[in-house]
Amino acid sequence: MIVANWKCNGSREMIQDWLKHYKDTCTPLDKTFVGIAPPFLYVEHLTNLINAHGLDIKIGVQDIDISSGARTSAISIDMIQDMECQFTIIGHSERRNIFNESDKSISAKLDSVGSKVATILCIGESAEENKNKNTKNVLKQQLSVIKGKILSSSFSIAYEPIWAIGTGNTPTPDEINDIHKFIKDVVQSSTENSIVPNVLYGGSVNDANAESFFKEDNVDGALIGGASLQGKSFADIVNIFNGKAI
Ligand code: PEP
Repeated sequence: MIVANWKCNGSREMIQDWLKHYKDTCTPLDKTFVGIAPPFLYVEHLTNLINAHGLDIKIGVQDIDISSGARTSAISIDMIQDMECQFTIIGHSERRNIFNESDKSISAKLDSVGSKVATILCIGESAEENKNKNTKNVLKQQLSVIKGKILSSSFSIAYEPIWAIGTGNTPTPDEINDIHKFIKDVVQSSTENSIVPNVLYGGSVNDANAESFFKEDNVDGALIGGASLQGKSFADIVNIFNGKAI
């Protein structure tokens, strides 16, 4: 599973260029879930162009709100389904830190999505928490939002250490593998239906380091920010992942 998070980036011109380079570079394989979460405003435009190019890329969103109605600027799960989006990211550290999103609201968002579309729940520790060797406690706390829930088999986690996002720094592949195993165990033991989720790694993944992460048993893919903004570099990462999947 390789997912692009474009954050607040992009334009109609960028999308046209992106698709051309992606198409020129990517060797598609049916079994890999490839997704893009563009800004809401570009969902329909991007979906139309992806269909016109005949590409197998799922479109999703970077966040949702908990309900529809009198909630200015919000987007609801029903709208996302209406626009045929297939997944949503929830709990990205930028939502938590810039927009003060709490575990309570993340939990409500998970309930509102249910199994209507696939969910990617982002969790990750800060630099200080990492330095204090508090990573697993922090992740366990963030994962308390799923306690007792029945989650769908399309539920995934993205482990994104905050200190690795956009910095060029990453944990070692071995450390990531260990954390992913921990996450799978916590999710399995805390959900009502004992699911073992796919766990993606996110944080400064690029075409030079992707292979070292994908080699690890518990790395089921990646959530990619900066390197997803160019069609070529994103396609290179998809190709590397496909190499693992063969
Ligand atoms: C992200 O913010 O989800 C992310 C993974 O960003 P980057 O790849 O730029 O570190």
